[in-house]
Amino acid sequence: MARAVIGVDLGGTTLAIGIINNEGRIIIQKVQPTPKSLKPDGLAKIVKENIKEFTANIASTLKLKALKIGISVPSFTTKEGEVIHAPNLGWINVPLKKIMEERIGMPVYIEHDVKCATLAEKIYGAGRNCNDFIYITYGTGLSAGIVINGSIRRGIHNSAGNIGHWVINEQGRPCTCGLNGCLETFIGREGIIKRARSKIQTGRDIGVDIDHLTVKRVFRSAKEGNVVARELVPEIAKDFGLAIAGLVAILDPGKVIIGGGIARAGEILFSPLRKVVKNNISSESARCVEIIPASLENPALIGAALIALEEKGINEF
Ligand SMILES: [Zn+2]
Repeated sequence: MARAVIGVDLGGTTLAIGIINNEGRIIIQKVQPTPKSLKPDGLAKIVKENIKEFTANIASTLKLKALKIGISVPSFTTKEGEVIHAPNLGWINVPLKKIMEERIGMPVYIEHDVKCATLAEKIYGAGRNCNDFIYITYGTGLSAGIVINGSIRRGIHNSAGNIGHWVINEQGRPCTCGLNGCLETFIGREGIIKRARSKIQTGRDIGVDIDHLTVKRVFRSAKEGNVVARELVPEIAKDFGLAIAGLVAILDPGKVIIGGGIARAGEILFSPLRKVVKNNISSESARCVEIIPASLENPALIGAALIALEEKGINEF
């Protein structure tokens, strides 16, 4: 009989809760907007209600391994299961593992969402059979999971892979982190929308109404052949590609796997990105690095469940 656990992917805008089995398959899941001003108590209540709903439906077909919960959070975490800083939730130093275990009465495992996603891609996805790769989540912001010799780099202060806040131009715009000119102010969701808006404000037609600008619409317009939207893509690919080339020069990975909402733009983004990376790496062998899309739909949810299922930390797989 398959084993399964509860996985929770807690994002700033979306909360996904599901049952995941030991083959990395999502048996059932519920995706809901993250309630405004959500607190750990509120999260415990929602998780409890969802578990009740799920188990009433499918418990008979699964051995729910005495129910355990793995939660991926949009923050670096401590080994004790504390959320260090999740700006989108307004949480600082929240002992989430302890609170959830007290409220729900089940073992709870907490991990940074990008590290969960990296683990899932490593076990089931595009990182299989590769001991050295970088996984990048590219959406509202950017963050990386760095796999070195098969182990996900955590860093001395648990903050390895914080590439969204890599300052690429200190004369740049202020970032939510307090610095100026971070990579994500240029190519994160808001950065792309600002670029598109400034093109419209100089009288150019990007194919999307200024009041309805989204990254998805801008990329769609580029795919449909709009000249102005098409100009924007290589600009984004240049900034992102140079950052990736820097990571490749330092770490010499076999693959750079890119997931997240913006990565779903597909070849229109990946094709110029590959060119920028290859043109900006001096080592001939490192230029062979594969730049590929992630292969799982919700790797953070699957990774969180994996940690709970196996009762192991990200570096013990
Ligand atoms: Zn920043």
